[in-house]
Amino acid sequence: MTTREKLVKQEKPGSRTKMNTLSDTAQTKKRAHTPSGIGKDPDKTKKAANSKKRPTQKDPKEKQKRQTRQARKISLKIVPLGGLNEIGKNLTVFECGQDKFIVDCGLAFPEADMYGVDMVLPDFTYLENNADSLRGIIITHGHEDHIGAIPYLLKKINLPVYGTRLTIGLIEGKLKEHGILSSANLNIITPRDMIKFGCMSAEAILVNHSIPDAIGLAIHTPAGIVIHTGDFKVDYSPIEGGIIDLARFGELGKRGVLALLSDSTNAERPGYTPSERTVGDSFDLLFKSAGRRRIMVATFSSNIHRVQQIISSAKKYNRKVAISGRSMENTVAIAIEQGYLKVPDDILISAESIKSYPNDKIIIITTGSQGEPMSALSRMASNDHRTIQATAEDMVIISATPIPGNEKHVNRVINDLMRLGAKVVYEKMYDVHVSGHACQDELKMVIALTKPRYFIPVHGEYKHIKSHAELAIDMGIAPSNVHIAEIGQVIELDNVDMRVTGTVPAGRIFVDGLGVGDVGSIVLRDRRALSQEGLIIVVATIEKESGTVLAGPDIISRGFVYVRESEELMGEARNVITTILSNNLTESFYDWTSIKSAVRNELSSFIYRKTKRSPIILPILMEV
Ligand SMILES: [Zn+2]
Ligand SMILES: [Zn+2]
Repeated sequence: MTTREKLVKQEKPGSRTKMNTLSDTAQTKKRAHTPSGIGKDPDKTKKAANSKKRPTQKDPKEKQKRQTRQARKISLKIVPLGGLNEIGKNLTVFECGQDKFIVDCGLAFPEADMYGVDMVLPDFTYLENNADSLRGIIITHGHEDHIGAIPYLLKKINLPVYGTRLTIGLIEGKLKEHGILSSANLNIITPRDMIKFGCMSAEAILVNHSIPDAIGLAIHTPAGIVIHTGDFKVDYSPIEGGIIDLARFGELGKRGVLALLSDSTNAERPGYTPSERTVGDSFDLLFKSAGRRRIMVATFSSNIHRVQQIISSAKKYNRKVAISGRSMENTVAIAIEQGYLKVPDDILISAESIKSYPNDKIIIITTGSQGEPMSALSRMASNDHRTIQATAEDMVIISATPIPGNEKHVNRVINDLMRLGAKVVYEKMYDVHVSGHACQDELKMVIALTKPRYFIPVHGEYKHIKSHAELAIDMGIAPSNVHIAEIGQVIELDNVDMRVTGTVPAGRIFVDGLGVGDVGSIVLRDRRALSQEGLIIVVATIEKESGTVLAGPDIISRGFVYVRESEELMGEARNVITTILSNNLTESFYDWTSIKSAVRNELSSFIYRKTKRSPIILPILMEV
């Protein structure tokens, strides 16, 4: 897209009319405008003309246009490559003059219809094409959706990486697994540090979240200050690490903030997210009531504060703690080593040794291989876990909310555990989980403190981002200064306006085993078809000279029908193929491609007529 797309009409900050709804902005966004023009939205022109306040529109507009051209100062570009209209793979590029830097570099977990895909990465094409002007990567916190893609990016472009101590510790573990730790340039920063990326600097600001050591960023640029909250919540009684630095957000707001990019995950939820400490109180009550039962707590491995509270309550009720799950073991080891987790002596035991303790002396903290709690628990419930089986003697506490799309699976695990006779406690019953993300009142507080000119809601599906945009508009930010962005957009902002000036490649790169990007949409379509309709292979051997069929045709099927019970259908199918072959094979000339496609098409319509199914058909014709 080369024509500058004008998305906003110039408007004084703070000015706002009731007529300018969000959908107006969305419509305006789609219309192309002349490069330097102020938005000439026909609808708006009509409205303005009808309002009688400015009867003559054309001349003043032209004049304004000329003034704008003169007044426009240096602009900043923001290019999101992930994290919008999706959960995960957060990555945003900030650009000014000749300099660019990256905020976060995460992965997304595959959706249910992405068969065989292990993880999803952002598209790095734009970064590879601009490697010379990239000055570094700064990471807000150690969750997979913010750090998971770092090894894959560093293998392509080796950039310095900046993050707080725990974040860098977790990144180190990843780079080690990928064998690229020794060549990496990792830098530990602390809140209020300022990191220079060419003409821009990123300042770390302490925030609260469901992992320790999380930061937001104030990005100081020649165009102005942009605040990126990262993932955050406001916790006035955090377990460790201090309260979010609201004072700094306020100071920056006083100096003037050009734009705010803020976490939209919980933008639909009114009120406040409760403090992590409330979960500790619930643990105390539940552990007390557990009696002779063994206790199992399933949670996300990165939630060190949650683990801390479980260990503290375990100490109170004189139980040992076993950690189960590789990702949980790794995270806990790093957190202990770096002092984020305080563990009393002799309280930790190995998962293998739990059998040598009575039930009422044990707490098991468990998570799955990807750090997600339900996968391991489901194996424990179905007696499929290597070391631990759930029993009727257990109290199972699910201290997490399902990842969106995973709710059905979670319900199945709860049903299985209850059927076994275990007592199951989950969020709906007690406060055994709190979110790591801000609800509406906290989001409003950050908008009020920073008083941004432009607002770009980030980190969430469309409905989250949209709710957050409405929240900002309700607080008086002009709708034209609020942008619902999409990945791949080049969003340019300066003292005059905010507009989309182009697009860059953005999308999803699939990782399957060792392959990165070799599974594309066609492979996925085949996998989907195979999973739903199955496969039929047709094999025949044909003599080259005469064009006669020497062997076959034979039909092999997988995932289509059980052949032994469908002999009649298979027999008819074989007749169909024999007819196709004899019609297409002559002594003098035959064309493999057209014979194969005839087999595929005619067999496919025969099968569909008989069964209303469309399996993948694979003809293998051998010439001798
Ligand atoms: Zn996070
Ligand atoms: Zn996140």
